[in-house]
Amino acid sequence: MSIELRGVSYTYGQGTPFAHKALRGIDLTISDGEILGLIGHTGSGKSTLVQHLNGLLKPTEGHVLIDGVDIGAKGTKLRDIRRRVGLVFQYPEHQLFEETVSADVAFGPKNLGLEGEELEQQVKQALQLVHLSYEDLGNRSPFELSGGQKRRVALAGVLAMQPKVLVLDEPSAGLDPRSRDELLGLIRELHEQGITIVFVTHNMSEIAQLAQRLVVMDRGKIVMDGTPREVFSRGDELASIGLGVPEITRLTRQLRRGGIDIPEDILTIEEAKEAIVQWMNQRKGAN
Ligand code: ADP
Ligand code: MG
Repeated sequence: MSIELRGVSYTYGQGTPFAHKALRGIDLTISDGEILGLIGHTGSGKSTLVQHLNGLLKPTEGHVLIDGVDIGAKGTKLRDIRRRVGLVFQYPEHQLFEETVSADVAFGPKNLGLEGEELEQQVKQALQLVHLSYEDLGNRSPFELSGGQKRRVALAGVLAMQPKVLVLDEPSAGLDPRSRDELLGLIRELHEQGITIVFVTHNMSEIAQLAQRLVVMDRGKIVMDGTPREVFSRGDELASIGLGVPEITRLTRQLRRGGIDIPEDILTIEEAKEAIVQWMNQRKGAN
């Protein structure tokens, strides 16, 4: 399933004195099976953009096409699109409201008309996907769970609709390091199961580990689009729009300037470890 934005602009409060242009001529194609990271300074338009991917916001100008079909056209079933493109908002646990975990996860599929055994299966399966036990937690109140667990329940609620594309707006914001790692692991697993992933983050290390493609926004426009390695090689340009490179990239570049002969484009701790070991072995060989 592909999603294409063609010349999309979006103005909040169009036609009022408070009009604010949040997106300016966005062209972006998301292909089936991608895992795409979206970064940009606060206010650059990331959340506005992702809400166009499932028709929650409609472009002020331009078009959104899903599998080549304009979703703004008359007769488009937005309900069907919102099922296929699951959107997980920032702090989704704030939207948990049912008395039990199962009821919360069941909310979406129930609205789609599922019931009985089929509904229960869907709920069980969604909880399994986020590594939560239906037996242990199904009847508990979501409010009794830990922060990380709550967020996974919220994610399960979207997964229960069996989306083809999962869009996550800052999924790891505010989580402790362990819950964050668990969540990143989950996102990777969902991708391996064939779900297309689009995720927004502030965390450069996170995106370097996870994304195959990186889109960078600045003031309502896309200013870079490439592999994490390509994007993070443009550190000065990133700095000029208020963004950094992963910590490990910064550290290894410093080491390199200090005379340690390792590559300049290291993005993960694994890569750094390998490069440093290799450098040490070469030195041993030279002595
Ligand atoms: P990001 O997610 O990158 O932080 P947003 O998409 O939330 O950016 O916001 C883009 C711009 O639109 C910002 O300048 C923001 O203040 C403005 N904006 C966001 N939501 C609204 C809204 N509901 N009404 C008016 N302006 C908004
Ligand atoms: Mg945002």
